[in-house]
Amino acid sequence: MRRTGSVAVVGSANLDIVLSLERRPRPGETVLGSSYSEVCGGKGANQAIAAARHGRAILVAQLGKDDAGTMLLSTLRARGVEVHRITRSSVPSGRAFIEVTPDGENSIVVMALANSTLGAARVHDALSGDVPAVVLAQLEVPLDVVIVAADWAAGTGARFVLNPSPVRALPRRLLALCDPLIVNESEAAAVLSELSELSGTAVPGTTAELAALLGRHCVSAVVTAGSRGACVAEGGVVESISGLPVAPVDTTGAGDEFAGALAAHLASGSTVVEAARLANEQAALAVATPRELR
Ligand code: ADP
Repeated sequence: MRRTGSVAVVGSANLDIVLSLERRPRPGETVLGSSYSEVCGGKGANQAIAAARHGRAILVAQLGKDDAGTMLLSTLRARGVEVHRITRSSVPSGRAFIEVTPDGENSIVVMALANSTLGAARVHDALSGDVPAVVLAQLEVPLDVVIVAADWAAGTGARFVLNPSPVRALPRRLLALCDPLIVNESEAAAVLSELSELSGTAVPGTTAELAALLGRHCVSAVVTAGSRGACVAEGGVVESISGLPVAPVDTTGAGDEFAGALAAHLASGSTVVEAARLANEQAALAVATPRELR
């Protein structure tokens, strides 16, 4: 029997600087932007906020001692995230520069800054102090930190959940600890290519096939498929979850909403399939809601 309790999210927090432009500048060109906003972002912060809607969520993260760090801290606190494991240093808070054009395409540059200074020893101490039921990580913080978090979970009977985004090569030993690994279809194809499960030219296959292949390398795997829902692979069995018919207004952050909700439901005692069904509902609701009202 797995224990129930809180989710500890080990991950990034960024100030998202969102610029609207009529068109992207060509190399060497300057264009005027039409709107500007600063919002709380970073996959760790986004997933912690999503998890806090459904249970206790603690964010283990590193911010700068700058105004951005103060703003991020107060936003996280206001959204119900427990922030006592967030530390601040002289390195500036992480930032993402997001250019949005009328065609709906986003171009994003992320500067990790303080996120890159999150230390493995501190993460270990934070997890040992709070003893969460579920540890949820992404890849916007150093990989050694993610590995320490996974090992801590394995050693204490907590569940380790990984959303490997932005995707990169992962040690097989880390994949083997994921319960579940949560990926969208393109991340699934990238992880499987690294594992030589898909050749460069092969058609990646259906969502269920991707989940089944990933499930051989992890305790369980969830592949999300946008409006088509998700597939869960666990113990050699693949379960398909249909997407909900909603009118999407903003699909930004759908994957973060799904991962945070899934982790929270696991921490409340749901099975992976039950938690994925609930996360599928909550992510669909999110994409049907403007971002500022979520
Ligand atoms: P990512 O944002 O990481 O690319 P997906 O696009 O696969 O992830 O979306 C994650 C989840 O969000 C899906 O599994 C689904 O539950 C929900 N979702 C995303 N887009 C839609 C949509 N248009 N309609 C209904 N649900 C959606």
